[in-house]
Amino acid sequence: MKRICVYCGSSPGNNELYLQTAEELGQVLALNNVGLVYGGASVGLMGRIADSVMKHGGEVIGIIPGHLKKEVAHYGLTSLHEVNTMHERKKMMMDLSDAMIAMPGGLGTMEEIFEAATWSQLQLHTKPCGLLNVNGYYDKLLEFIDHAVNEGFILPRHRYIMQAAETPTELLDKLKSVVEHA
Ligand code: AMP
Repeated sequence: MKRICVYCGSSPGNNELYLQTAEELGQVLALNNVGLVYGGASVGLMGRIADSVMKHGGEVIGIIPGHLKKEVAHYGLTSLHEVNTMHERKKMMMDLSDAMIAMPGGLGTMEEIFEAATWSQLQLHTKPCGLLNVNGYYDKLLEFIDHAVNEGFILPRHRYIMQAAETPTELLDKLKSVVEHA
């Protein structure tokens, strides 16, 4: 696995654990020689994970639309691509990555990881998707996905498109194992 796309909050969250885990995920990626692809911002969890990968000697590719002034582009990355639209950004992020994961985040993060998962469901790609469920942040979302399976709106075989783990190392191992067994 050469590169992983990480979607995460442009906010830091209210619990220091989220920033700490962004730092830890960045370190785990760099130590495993897995490059980071992300939205190119310098704020919130986005900025922290990028700083951590760079600090630990890894590769970071940022992709940001020129109009997103509030996210403040990060100019200390391996490379930063400025694109015109959110759609171009998401496409490039997925194209450059071998897996897509979400750390805690808001509506933007959820939209991005669900697009990746639904494109897998439609067989538009075969890259694994996962949630880094820090501090149980995604427990209710995972419960809701189970509910949607029980109610007949998600096929049981699509349930595990969205992998989940509580720690960066555990999630990375799960993604690798999905790739190996594909
Ligand atoms: P948030 O989780 O809302 O803090 O946003 C995390 C990242 O997702 C930010 O870089 C946002 O610009 C991005 N984002 C927000 N909405 C969308 C969208 N509709 N499509 C793609 N990215 C988005």
